Amino acid sequence: MPRAKPAPGDPVPAETPPPAAAKPTPRAAKPRRARAMTLAEVRGFLQALAQANPAPQSELDYTDPYTLLVAVVLSAQATDASVNRATRTLFQEAATPDAMVRIGADGVARHIRSIGLWQGKARNVVALSQALLDQHGGAVPADREALEKLPGVGRKTANVVLNVAFGEATMAVDTHVFRLGNRTGIAPGATPRAVEDGLVRRVPRDLLRDAHHWLILHGRYVCKARRPECWRCVAATWCRYPDKTPAPTGKAGIPDPAPPADPSSPPELGSTG
Ligand code: SF4
Repeated sequence: MPRAKPAPGDPVPAETPPPAAAKPTPRAAKPRRARAMTLAEVRGFLQALAQANPAPQSELDYTDPYTLLVAVVLSAQATDASVNRATRTLFQEAATPDAMVRIGADGVARHIRSIGLWQGKARNVVALSQALLDQHGGAVPADREALEKLPGVGRKTANVVLNVAFGEATMAVDTHVFRLGNRTGIAPGATPRAVEDGLVRRVPRDLLRDAHHWLILHGRYVCKARRPECWRCVAATWCRYPDKTPAPTGKAGIPDPAPPADPSSPPELGSTG
């Protein structure tokens, strides 16, 4: 129906205000990416870590290649400390493939229930032990292809075993190594494999074997995911991360609140020894 014309003297309707212009939402600052280190910077960075820790070691408890292999399989998405608590009693009961097969998945599960994904891991530990007995005379093969065929063993686990048990200069990329590869500029890459290949290509041969440990330990204790502790980092001179964390200035030494997670934080790859 057509609207009636206002008669003279009718109150003037208030003017409808134009819709308020939408307030621009403040955009989060675009994360800055580290440029790739030069080869001289790569060497300087690793030499600084080497000076602080000349003989880096795995933090997983093991006594031989077999117990190392089992510990690394158990360490996917679990801390080394939690794995060590579980294997302390597991290895007392079964420290060989033969004994592990005898206690079976239920026997393994009794010891490892406190760590993530324990059901699948218990099955894999028994299955890989059986495969070692059937195909390798009960020994752990020093060969990537054979290792990767074992149940529960992927490239990362094979790299740790080849490096730690057999002294090969391999580079296992776990969550820490992936983060450092990108954050510091030592070997930027979009995937764990790209970071691994970058590190193998760029790290000097004489430093490559231990680089695996230096990077993991540095990521675990100093160059942490949410707040890298750059102010106490021995390798800061060489690191290309553009937004280094200043020393805490909060009251009574309480650090300022943590900034948002670093954009170069990786997908959850799990830790390794
Ligand atoms: S702690 Fe900071 S300075 Fe050290 S490597 Fe990590 S980002 Fe670089």
